[in-house]
Amino acid sequence: MKLNYRIAILSFIFIGLYLYASYTYIQEIYNEQLHERYTKTSNIIRGKLQTLINEKKEAILLLSIALSESDTIKHLLVTKQYQKLNLDSFSDKLKHHSSLHNVWFQIINPNGQSVYRSWSSKDGDNILSIRNEIKKIINKPRIISLISVGRYDITFKAIVPIYHQKKFLGLIETIAKFNSIGRKLQTENIDNLLIVDKRYKNQLKFANKEHFFNGYYISNKNPNKIFLHQVVKELPLFIHIRNFIIKEEKLFTTYTLFDIDQQPMAYFVLAKPLSQIDISDIKNQKITLISIAIIIFIGIALFIYYIYFINYKKFVKKQTLILQKNVAHKTKELQKQSEILKYQAEHDPLTNLPNRLLFLDRLKQALKYAKRKNGKVSVLFFDLDRFKEINDTYGHEVGDKLLQEVTKRLTENRRSEDTVARLGGDEFTLLLLNQDQDGIIHVVTSIMKKMEKPFYINNLELYTTFSIGISSYPEDGTTHDELLRNADTAMYEAKMNGKNNYHFYNSKMTEIAIARTKLEKELRKALENKEFIPYFQPKIDAKHNKIVGLEALVRWQHPTKGIVFPDKFIPFAEEIGLITAIDNYMMKASMKQVLLWQQEGIECGKLSINLSAKQLNSKSYLNELKTALNETKFDPKYLEIEITETHIMRNPSRALTILEKIKSLGISIAIDDFGTGYSSLSYLKKLPITKLKIDRSFVIDIPEEDDDVAIVRTIISLAKNLRLGIIAEGVEKKEQVEFLVQEGCNDIQGYYFSKPLDTQNCKEFLKNYQ
Ligand code: C2E
Ligand code: CA
Ligand code: CA
Repeated sequence: MKLNYRIAILSFIFIGLYLYASYTYIQEIYNEQLHERYTKTSNIIRGKLQTLINEKKEAILLLSIALSESDTIKHLLVTKQYQKLNLDSFSDKLKHHSSLHNVWFQIINPNGQSVYRSWSSKDGDNILSIRNEIKKIINKPRIISLISVGRYDITFKAIVPIYHQKKFLGLIETIAKFNSIGRKLQTENIDNLLIVDKRYKNQLKFANKEHFFNGYYISNKNPNKIFLHQVVKELPLFIHIRNFIIKEEKLFTTYTLFDIDQQPMAYFVLAKPLSQIDISDIKNQKITLISIAIIIFIGIALFIYYIYFINYKKFVKKQTLILQKNVAHKTKELQKQSEILKYQAEHDPLTNLPNRLLFLDRLKQALKYAKRKNGKVSVLFFDLDRFKEINDTYGHEVGDKLLQEVTKRLTENRRSEDTVARLGGDEFTLLLLNQDQDGIIHVVTSIMKKMEKPFYINNLELYTTFSIGISSYPEDGTTHDELLRNADTAMYEAKMNGKNNYHFYNSKMTEIAIARTKLEKELRKALENKEFIPYFQPKIDAKHNKIVGLEALVRWQHPTKGIVFPDKFIPFAEEIGLITAIDNYMMKASMKQVLLWQQEGIECGKLSINLSAKQLNSKSYLNELKTALNETKFDPKYLEIEITETHIMRNPSRALTILEKIKSLGISIAIDDFGTGYSSLSYLKKLPITKLKIDRSFVIDIPEEDDDVAIVRTIISLAKNLRLGIIAEGVEKKEQVEFLVQEGCNDIQGYYFSKPLDTQNCKEFLKNYQ
């Protein structure tokens, strides 16, 4: 575009220069030609005048010569009969039949006497004294033709000697005015004035005084008044025109008559209207030149436009190309981007597997096809066992890497038509087409086999397994929703059956699933209706036979089923996240109850409440605990938290921080079900715990079972070494109590002393121990 802009400016400059130059040039040529034409015209005018003068001069001379040859005149002169000389009628004839209107004759005898004058009756006077030239001619007779200024006017004169038989008889002089010349010029539209130089003023004694202007004498008899005024106004200018001048639309030129001494004697000022001068050819030529210039201009303009246009076209072409390239590039980018977006929308970023969206899409397509072709479609639902534990224990980075490794094993050797997808979390699906039950079992077992090998991630050796649920079209469902839901249900069943397992869907599972949904609804309603109530199981110091504490255990007072035990709903409540609400409720309810008893002066010992792993991970737990303490004004030194070993070991570092905060509130912490969770001793040392609770499984068979005896002894000595309190749960028999007390574990909890009791019974029980 910049280039075109420059071209445009250059074009304008060029056009300007061109117009200026061509105008000046044409005008110059025109002026030159006009000047030439005017010069020529003025030359012609002067030439014409010259011719007229010459003609008249010659005519006068001829007249004189003719008359000098006249025998009559000669005879009269010889006989000196001067009075008989008469040329008047001759003058008249000339006047009437020629252009010579004012012609006069004079005859002079050899003595210099004027013997005849055609214009006057005066004769006989001697003119030698006043006319020098006559004297010269008489002395040496010859023919003379001249223009001279006389006493009357400026005139033509021709003087011819008359001879008779070689005897000089005298001179015949013919005189004529210029008037006829003036008239002739006038007929040709040439204004004219014959102006006699002022040097002759004195000589023109008898001239008309009115014809003098500034000493100059105008010879014309009836001059054009306007013209006369125009000329007289600037006489010196007009009489000195060398070539021509243009004034008031007229061409002026001057013809100078010189006297014998070559001094200017008179001036013919001639003027011709410019309109009378034909300059049409010059004008035409000018028009032609202008036309040529315009044609050239148009040519150049077209050329420039063409160049500009070509340039512009090139420019536009270039820009279009650039634009096209850009558009193509952008389109490609957009395509790429939309492909990426589509890919991202349909794939899981961690494993690059198709996500739920794409899986469902493929499943729908497969179903459509299968319905037409009577095919079979199977959905395999995979859920990693213990993945949450691994994630909590080793962190998300390890969890993510594990998922990637699992993906590798899951996709290995898969047929291209089978889709492996990640639905989210640790859930995977596999879409199998046209596989019978044996084929499916083959696929499933081969995957389970692959999963047996350990995963090596961040120098850790990890093991994980799949719980797998299978549903197939047409027998287990006809829609994608149904198939996926049923595969999920089957997977749940597999999990319930002990994990690392697969299960084909059957309709019974749906009933279970329905039951689960029902249970969830009921639990939520129970919470709303305050159907949960705390039971209390006393803890007894068996050695000193006194109450050391109460463990709060939740019971669900079902409106139709009566008392429901926690194993029927706690794991499910944990699974669906309802445990937090239940625990918070239990925490407050049990605290309030114990506080009441304390206020009644009943010795209760410490109140133990159970804490689920969910609570341990919940950010709000600590606040809930504090609010409960504040609201009930329960003294934290009477409060003990029970948390299972496995719960702590799922995420020990997190457990450590939260337990420390709990302890800092003045609350005791006991490890529940101790001995089942493979706690590392180093961790145990670090944890801010106060008590170990020996799990019921080790208590059942003591003192008979040696292994259990050994384990219980070890746990008791471990507690002592770590300076922790010790308690045994699930104690039902006297021998168990005796053994435990003997080994140094005085605190006992179990049916031997009491089952968990409702408020009323517990109060009774406590009262008996006061
Ligand atoms: P746990 O914390 O180990 O509680 C002890 C369980 O053993 C109680 O069962 C109790 O009734 C039972 N038990 C006590 N002594 C004996 C005995 O001598 N013989 C036998 N066979 N059992 C005995 P329960 O009340 O059914 O509670 C089961 C589990 O439910 C509890 O195990 C605890 O983990 C959980 N739980 C109970 N209440 C709550 C609660 O409020 N919150 C949470 N998060 N969990 C609770
Ligand atoms: Ca407990
Ligand atoms: Ca326990």
